[in-house]
Amino acid sequence: DVKKEKELREAEATAEKNFLRHSIEKFLNWGRVNSFWPASFGLACCAIEMASTGGARYCLARFGYEVFQASPRQADLMIVAGTLTRKMAPVARRVYDQMPEPKWAIAMGNCACSGGPFADSYAVVPGADSIIPIDVYIPGCPPRPEALIFGMLQLKQKIQNPSKVRLIKYGK
Ligand code: SF4
Repeated sequence: DVKKEKELREAEATAEKNFLRHSIEKFLNWGRVNSFWPASFGLACCAIEMASTGGARYCLARFGYEVFQASPRQADLMIVAGTLTRKMAPVARRVYDQMPEPKWAIAMGNCACSGGPFADSYAVVPGADSIIPIDVYIPGCPPRPEALIFGMLQLKQKIQNPSKVRLIKYGK
């Protein structure tokens, strides 16, 4: 009948719209994951490894991730590289807030993941995720550049194919 036909047409139109939206989103994500623009933001020793990752030896440029931005307004990835002190926490959050959507954050190193050797210190935030939503955690003190590259590729996977993200368990 007419009512059923109308409903069917509406359902088809919605499916078409969703398909289009999904396809556009997929295409945009393809661009995003092949050209992360990390914010130039380092906190402690881990930042030295982050800087080294962008150098010629490890060549982050192979993946299109080498454009570290001096302005958070032009960045889409924050790598929390190092010890996040309580004094620095509001600044880190402000920098993160200034980044436009969509944006992601990586906790690089034990300090950023959980406070590391300073977890019990009154002056240190025991994990950057209490200040900033973290997408990928990279343990290590400090993690090597290969680990940072692996983490960034995990983020790429998480954005493109969330079901295929590998959970790495240490000690196995
Ligand atoms: Fe330094 Fe280790 Fe903390 Fe990284 S995890 S900032 S290397 S103390």
